[in-house]
Amino acid sequence: MRHFAIVGSGPAGFYTAEALEKAYGDQARVDILDRYPVPYGLIRFGVAPDHQSLKAVSKRYDKVADSAGVDFIGNVSVGRDVSVAELLELYDAVILAVGSPHSRKLGIPGEALGGVIGSADFVGWYNGHPDYADLDPPLTGTHAAVIGNGNVALDCARILSKSRREFEGSDIVGHALDALDNSAIRTVTILGRRGPHQIAMTPKELGELGHLEEAQPVVDLNDFPPREADDALEPGQRKSVTILRDFADIRANKRKTMIFDFFAKPLRIEGDGKAETIVVERTELDEKGAARGTGETYEVPTSLIISAIGYSSAPIEGVPYDERGGKFLNEGGRIADRLYAVGWARRGPSGTIGTNRPDGYEVADLVAAAMPSGTAGDRAGAAGLKRLLESRGVMPTDYDDWRKIEENEAANARPGSPREKFVRHQQWLQTLGR
Ligand code: NAP
Repeated sequence: MRHFAIVGSGPAGFYTAEALEKAYGDQARVDILDRYPVPYGLIRFGVAPDHQSLKAVSKRYDKVADSAGVDFIGNVSVGRDVSVAELLELYDAVILAVGSPHSRKLGIPGEALGGVIGSADFVGWYNGHPDYADLDPPLTGTHAAVIGNGNVALDCARILSKSRREFEGSDIVGHALDALDNSAIRTVTILGRRGPHQIAMTPKELGELGHLEEAQPVVDLNDFPPREADDALEPGQRKSVTILRDFADIRANKRKTMIFDFFAKPLRIEGDGKAETIVVERTELDEKGAARGTGETYEVPTSLIISAIGYSSAPIEGVPYDERGGKFLNEGGRIADRLYAVGWARRGPSGTIGTNRPDGYEVADLVAAAMPSGTAGDRAGAAGLKRLLESRGVMPTDYDDWRKIEENEAANARPGSPREKFVRHQQWLQTLGR
């Protein structure tokens, strides 16, 4: 029997478990560990609460968790409760599927001022991540700025601009819904350091901005290259750019605006103890398509700045880490003997949820090539891990525990909402009578 530990129960973790189950059948036991008693990682804490259709993929993960060879071991923090070296003693292979939970830094003066928030924190706040339950983003000013031209920037701008009614059916947590409902923000400036052709926004996500109840997107056609130039773009990108161009035709007079400010590179953030202004430099594209400053600067007044410029993984002691890439050093998923990385921990924060499926299958293939099905291992697996955790006073949880939490969250839901998430670790444990 082989024993495999997957650290992290987000999409990459579940797809890898599914692949290992398929590769080994009853020749292996796969344990999915998570530091929380609740599974799904990015699906629960990252995917926007008003994108419930994307979150529905968790039903597929439930099937994986239900399969005979797979177990969920929650409430165990790798690095704190058990080390990677200890897991490698207990398991034939350890696969890190820990995602990229931290915001990349802007690295500009003023970043530490109040009101400057990384997208991981802001997204975590409205999605009920326990680390950000007390974030309390300042929503009393009229202007916010979102830095970045990717889908996360769109998520943040949209969440700041929606009406309370538009959150019906979502699982946005109550504290965020109430705060956003009372928000004074009327203008969200989306700062892109390059131009419309360089956006990393997908058509569906971008298109949504054109149909909001109280807010309208604003673009300046002077920022765009001639329309014929769009022909050189790949089809998806061309679609996005067309949607963006068409925003110029919107003739509404809604009370909120989302302004796309292209060729605008943040230089510094200024304010007396808290953010008041972001100073940006006009840019142009250099020969390689990168943003080059023109020397012209201007100020965007704003009391809330969300930087949505990408994520990085959290380093784990003893595991080689690629600081620049914000991921674990690995070759095609292999970090070291019997130690692997998958998903964002492997390749950095890119791609859709579905990208993690082939990624997980590829890493499972690597594992299977190194220790073919049918060959025996003599590691202790979950039994050994549970003994070790018990000796340290750590009480792991299982999938039945998650189901209890899930039932309670569903029972607490606002009308029309699938759940009201508990936002404190303690609340999860209390639900379990711990
Ligand atoms: P992303 O797609 O990599 O976009 C990051 C953006 O930040 C880019 O526009 C980048 O501009 C900009 N940027 C980076 N460094 C910057 C700096 N120092 N100053 C100013 N701008 C900077 O990352 P993301 O938006 O965090 O999304 C992560 C992944 O999740 C993506 O694959 C995304 O598609 C996916 N996602 C999907 C959905 C969905 O499908 N609904 C929702 C959310 C996220 P440059 O291009 O100039 O580097």
